[in-house]
Amino acid sequence: MNDKQTMTQTLLEIENSLRFLAANGYRGFACTGHSLEKLEKWGKGRTFFAETLEDIHADLGDCRRCKLAQERNHIVFGDGNAKAKLVFIGEGPGAEEDRKGQPFVGAAGQLLTRIIEAIKLSRSQVYICNIIKCRPPGNRNPESDEIKTCFPFLERQIAALQPDFIIALGTFAAQTLLGTTTPISRLRGRFHVYKGIKVVPTYHPAYLLRNPDKKRDVWEDMKMLMKEYRYEY
Ligand code: URA
Repeated sequence: MNDKQTMTQTLLEIENSLRFLAANGYRGFACTGHSLEKLEKWGKGRTFFAETLEDIHADLGDCRRCKLAQERNHIVFGDGNAKAKLVFIGEGPGAEEDRKGQPFVGAAGQLLTRIIEAIKLSRSQVYICNIIKCRPPGNRNPESDEIKTCFPFLERQIAALQPDFIIALGTFAAQTLLGTTTPISRLRGRFHVYKGIKVVPTYHPAYLLRNPDKKRDVWEDMKMLMKEYRYEY
């Protein structure tokens, strides 16, 4: 990252921390060592949220909140380690995922597994989920009302998980999380921030199956992630 990108990222992180405090009722704080220590912990948020993944899953129930409920076979809530430091977020379940109720278990999922293994982790160490939890008929793109209904559940999952990194797989995941319409080709290659969590936008594995020459870019994004991950651990 150059100096300007580092500065922009720092400002985004400060803004996110302040928004986080404001959302939790804080209207100011003293900059004592003690307060800053607390702030540092809250930024990581590990103990702040009482809601668990099970609570959220139970609240989701046999969801009928949007029209996708009519044709889906299974809700795909998410899968993996509840203590994961890395969360991979895709677009929505495909046919195979809809059949099994598990995220990324089809052809794109096999490639995602290889990407995770390439960064020396396993699927059981990370958490994998999607922007929407039900398969759109014929694998069409998710519609805005569907995302609007489903996304709050993902936001709660992220709050419960409090990962250090989110890998946003493809346009829908990256644009929805970051609240932007900037194309994935321009979002990838650098870190962004979602509620104090570092976001790595990269190409979706399904896109890589159609455009294998883009695997090189994804590998660059994963190397960028690993460098930062190692710095933190
Ligand atoms: N594509 C996605 O975006 N998510 C899945 O779970 C499977 C394929």
